[in-house]
Amino acid sequence: MKVTVLGATGSIGLSTLDVIARHPERYQAFALTAFSRIDELRALCLIHRPRYAVVAEEASARCLQQDLQQAGLGTRVLVGEGGLCEVAAHPEADAVMAAIVGAAGLRPTLAAVKADKRVLLANKEALVMSGALFMQALRDSNAMLLPIDSEHNAIFQCLPADYARGLASVGVRRILLTASGGPFRELAADQLHDVSPEQACAHPNWSMGRKISVDSASMMNKGLELIEACWLFDARPEQVEVVIHPQSVIHSMVDYIDGSVLAQLGNPDMRTPIAHALAWPERIHSDVSPLDLLRIGHLDFQAPDEQRFPCLRLARLAAQACGTAPAMLNAANEVAVDAFLSGRIRFTEIASIIDDVLGREASVPAACLEDVLAADAQARVLAGQWLSRYGQ
Ligand code: NAD
Ligand code: MG
Repeated sequence: MKVTVLGATGSIGLSTLDVIARHPERYQAFALTAFSRIDELRALCLIHRPRYAVVAEEASARCLQQDLQQAGLGTRVLVGEGGLCEVAAHPEADAVMAAIVGAAGLRPTLAAVKADKRVLLANKEALVMSGALFMQALRDSNAMLLPIDSEHNAIFQCLPADYARGLASVGVRRILLTASGGPFRELAADQLHDVSPEQACAHPNWSMGRKISVDSASMMNKGLELIEACWLFDARPEQVEVVIHPQSVIHSMVDYIDGSVLAQLGNPDMRTPIAHALAWPERIHSDVSPLDLLRIGHLDFQAPDEQRFPCLRLARLAAQACGTAPAMLNAANEVAVDAFLSGRIRFTEIASIIDDVLGREASVPAACLEDVLAADAQARVLAGQWLSRYGQ
């Protein structure tokens, strides 16, 4: 199976290449893409010898092309969003790992869906932004969508094969979406004001990119995942219950009308859902160590605190509003997280910006991709205005 890895230099991209390299008889890296960190992309190309590489800028593309040629590789280097869409939809690619972070992944991920690929979806922002259109594109295609987000991969594993008939038809009462609670789970509300980007990025259980780490700390990650679950499994927002589970051993659960609750467990290592989605319906080794329940000892559960973590409430409101609200929520969050990481705002102001943006721009129906992109752009403008008024 030839695999295009969008976002190959990221945390998910590297874990994907790790799994691929363990099974050279089954998988080959077909295309690798990166936005920055071109040296790392070059090193990955030398190891995996892909047919294509994609970078953001013309100048770095020329440079990389020259280096790879000198090293005796036939890799072709493409540029920009056009290049990303080309390798996502390439007739020779069988599977596409969508692991670009944020809205930048939307078009290439949709291109993979429309080209009937096996799409491994890590890039939750793409689905959150364009949910109805994305799922319609999926239904109109012969693509197969497999969730990589550990929670959604767990839910997928706990649902019957015919769940697309509808959750009620297969006897599902609720989805229990587990959340670690992030690094600030125990922090008092007044202390959240002073946390630094480094503290926010130090997740207790998972090692991830900086954006999703901040999202985990603010619980916006769980909010985005709630919206993601609604689209993936055709659930209503009120059917998805968030449960704090600090050990991150249960990756999510499905509650059935007969009282059965099915859960998927494992060590917190993204190579498990990646290996699952690459090989589904088969199973392959991922190098993840076996779960040692005796060492873990106990599993804890708590209710989320939406007072301290208002992002979760904002995401639930956006899920209920539907239309362009989730795209605006996502875009405002991307701007706010960026501003927090670069020291322009405080951690607690991430929610203030999103709240402000959602309050100033009404949600409208998203009839086409242009509606989604316009809402995304408008939310970025409004978030930028907030920053120029109140940001450092
Ligand atoms: P990361 O920051 O480590 O990597 C992001 C990748 O995207 C990099 O390869 C980067 O070069 C590329 N990229 C960034 N901006 C780009 C742009 N504008 N155009 C093209 N490429 C761009 O992020 P990550 O932690 O690997 O997360 C990737 C996606 O997977 C996110 O949507 C995240 O929410 C999701 N996800 C990650 C994890 C995890 O454990 N890391 C778990 C679940 C879901
Ligand atoms: Mg997750």
